[in-house]
Amino acid sequence: ISPVANLIAVPVVSLGVVPLVLPGVLLGALGSSLGNWLLQMADQILHGLMWLLEYLGGMSWAAFSLPISSAAALGFAMLAVFLLLLPRGLPGRWLMPLFLLPAVTGTAGLEMRPGQFSVDILDVGQGLATVVMTANHTLVFDTGARFSRRSSAARSVVLPFLKQAGIDHLDVLVLSHDDNDHAGGESVIMRGLTVGRRYFSTSRQKGRESGLVSHCNTGDRWQWDGVDFEFLHPPPGWASGDNNGSCVLKISNAAFGALLPGDIEQPVEKFLLQHEAEKLPSTLLVAPHHGSLTSSSRDFIAQVAPQWVVFSVGYHNRFGFPKPEVVARYRQLGSETLETDRSGGTSFRFGSQPGDLQVQTWRDAHRHWWQPWMPEAENELVDTSATPSFL
Ligand SMILES: [Zn+2]
Repeated sequence: ISPVANLIAVPVVSLGVVPLVLPGVLLGALGSSLGNWLLQMADQILHGLMWLLEYLGGMSWAAFSLPISSAAALGFAMLAVFLLLLPRGLPGRWLMPLFLLPAVTGTAGLEMRPGQFSVDILDVGQGLATVVMTANHTLVFDTGARFSRRSSAARSVVLPFLKQAGIDHLDVLVLSHDDNDHAGGESVIMRGLTVGRRYFSTSRQKGRESGLVSHCNTGDRWQWDGVDFEFLHPPPGWASGDNNGSCVLKISNAAFGALLPGDIEQPVEKFLLQHEAEKLPSTLLVAPHHGSLTSSSRDFIAQVAPQWVVFSVGYHNRFGFPKPEVVARYRQLGSETLETDRSGGTSFRFGSQPGDLQVQTWRDAHRHWWQPWMPEAENELVDTSATPSFL
């Protein structure tokens, strides 16, 4: 929509607003009331213009996204544009638009083979949004928070991530539990994509279950492209809601496992140790409840024994997550820890053979030229060896 918006906005600002503001500022500085009047006129015009621009920007077709193309496809496209700009006499010039097609239709480096899967923990600030992909399927586990009527992590992070990957259909959307920082973007996702099946925690949606909308129940499982998905919690009829009603999802192939436990707290960790202990060990753990002291008990994380732990947290969040004691607990176990506020979105690509694991963080992959000189902020480590684990 931007050409239309600019066609209106540029003349209005340059012929209407600027000619009022400049003399307005000058006359205002000289103490003339006319200056004030001119500035108020400019304000009225800008007000009307902003209303119109917001209206245009809010239209569903106002913007569209294309998947990211490979370097080769972009190279082809640049060559085609160059040749198109050459003099008319060049034979075959009319064929050039065909070379633009790969850049518009292709996706870069996202292909996965059966048995492989990826887990992307997106940088959504304080909250959680995770995208799991196999060769032919996509699952989103939590959507991040909704901040206001127009603003949400789903709109600014999750949807752009999926569109760039060329995805406009989700096979499964899981909302681990009802808290805004996990489920706040549901309506944005439902409007922005087609969604096959939805899973909710037992804490809500009672009576809303239907063919494609259901509670996540212990034992619900399926397989996509040689990759296993299974809910380990909550069991049918589980009473306690909110954090402790979180859906806990285990994803695994022959070589690796990833555990997404939502915001479960120590009572559920204990429950899982009693009932699902053999299914807990995982290569990757998204730290329960963002690294809060209510979760990540020593026994639980010892059983999961994650090689990698990711804390999905907002920069300087008001809860102080992740708690340094919790981070230290994982490091004492030998786990590598990452925090999304420092590392940005974090990508895990799990191959089907042991050792075939790629881990990439957004900040490492997209480092700005000034960043190598910035000191790496490190979490203060607290010696918790003498601290009881329930703190
Ligand atoms: Zn949370």
